[in-house]
Amino acid sequence: MQPQQPIRQLFQQHYGRLPQWVAVAPGRVNLIGEHVDYCGGFVLPMAIERFTSIAAAPAPADRCAGPARARLWSTALQRTVEIQLSATAAPVPTAAADGWANYVRGVVAGFSARGVCVPAFDAVIDSTVPLGGGLSSSAALEVATATLLAAMTGHAIAPLELARLCQQAEHEYAGVPCGIMDQCASTLCQEDHLLLLDCRSLETKQVPFTRPDVVVLITNSNVRHEHSCGAYAERRAECERAAALLGVESLRAVTLEQVEAARASLGAVGYRCARHVVTEIARTVAAAAALQNNNWSALGPLMAASHASLRDDYKVSCLELDLLVELACAQPGVIGSRLTGGGFGGGPVTLVEAARAAAAAAAIALGYRLQTGRECTLFTTRPVGGARLEP
Ligand code: ADP
Ligand code: MG
Repeated sequence: MQPQQPIRQLFQQHYGRLPQWVAVAPGRVNLIGEHVDYCGGFVLPMAIERFTSIAAAPAPADRCAGPARARLWSTALQRTVEIQLSATAAPVPTAAADGWANYVRGVVAGFSARGVCVPAFDAVIDSTVPLGGGLSSSAALEVATATLLAAMTGHAIAPLELARLCQQAEHEYAGVPCGIMDQCASTLCQEDHLLLLDCRSLETKQVPFTRPDVVVLITNSNVRHEHSCGAYAERRAECERAAALLGVESLRAVTLEQVEAARASLGAVGYRCARHVVTEIARTVAAAAALQNNNWSALGPLMAASHASLRDDYKVSCLELDLLVELACAQPGVIGSRLTGGGFGGGPVTLVEAARAAAAAAAIALGYRLQTGRECTLFTTRPVGGARLEP
C-alpha cells in the first residue's frame, strides 16, 4: 500500500513550500519469540512494507522568535498540533486531542536530554502502518521522528542508541512500558533479513530470509478482547514471580529441566508461564538457525508449537486467532502460521509461497467470514530495511 500522495506533495500543499528532509521508518511483525522480550529472551522480528513518513522543513523566520515550537500535521488524524521544543516540555494526557503528539514530544525530549537543541520546524506525518493494529505504528512514528531530528540537528545517533531513545519516549511520554523489539526492528532491520534480537544483551544478528518465492502474510482478526491490557501485566508479573522463585533475574536464565523440577513450588499458572517462556526462547533460536541453514521445513512445526504454547500454556489466544491459524495451516503453499503480538486480538503471521498467497488469503477470509460473521484484513509483505532518510 502506497501513501495516497507523495509525502513531499502533501507537505507542499499544507505549508506552501517544499520540505527539506523526508524520514521514513517501517512497522514490524514478529515471526517468532512471543511474550519473551520482558524475560530477556530472543525475538525474531522483521520490518514490513508499511511505513511512517515525515517530511519537514525549518519553520518560517517569523516563527523562529521566542521559544522553539514545531507544527505537526498527521494525515491519519487530519489535525495540526503545535508542540513546544524546550527541554522541559511535558507530555499531555493521552486522551487529549494532541495526545498522539506525545510520541514526537518524547523523541524531542530524548534529543534534549543528550544536549541537542531542536530548532523550530513544520512537519507532515503520513503512515501506511495501521494505527493500533499491532504492527507498531507507534515505534514507526518514534523512529521516523528520531531519524528526522538526527538529520535536522546534524547529531548522528548510533542505531541501537536511537532505538533506546525511542523506547524511552514511549515509556515516559506515551506511558507504555514496551520492550525494545519494535524500535530495534524499525531501526536495525535489513532488506530480506529477519532480526534476531537478544533482549538481555541487546546483541543483534541479521538472519537471511533465503527464499525469494516466499512472502509473509499478515492477518488482522479485527477483534480486540477487553481483558488484553490486564492480562499482559498479569503474565509479566507471573514470569517475574517464577523467576524469583527459581532464584534468577529473568526466565532467560533457566532450563526446562529446572522448570520441571520446580513444578510444585511454581504452582499451576507459574509453571505454565515459565514453560512457555523457556520453550519459546528455544524455538526462536531454532527458527533463526533453520533460516540461516535454509532449512525451511523446520519452520512450520516451530511456528505450530509456538502457537500451541501461547494458546495452552500462556493462554493469550482466543477463538478467532485459533481459527485463523487453523485456516491458514490448511491452505496449499503455507509453510507455517502462528499468532503474533500480545494476543487476544490482532492476528497470525503466516509464511506462504508467493504464488499461492492470494488464493490462501481469499480462502482464509472466506472461512473466517463463514465461521464468525466477521471480516479479517490481510496483506503480504517481504522483509524490508529499517529507517532511512530519503535523498
Ligand atoms: P501500534 O503501535 O500497534 O500501532 P499503539 O497503540 O502502540 O499501536 O500506537 C498507536 C498510537 O500511536 C496511535 O493511537 C497514535 O497515538 C500514535 N500514532 C501512530 N502513528 C501515528 C500517525 N501516523 N499519526 C498520528 N499518531 C500516530
Ligand atoms: Mg505500539
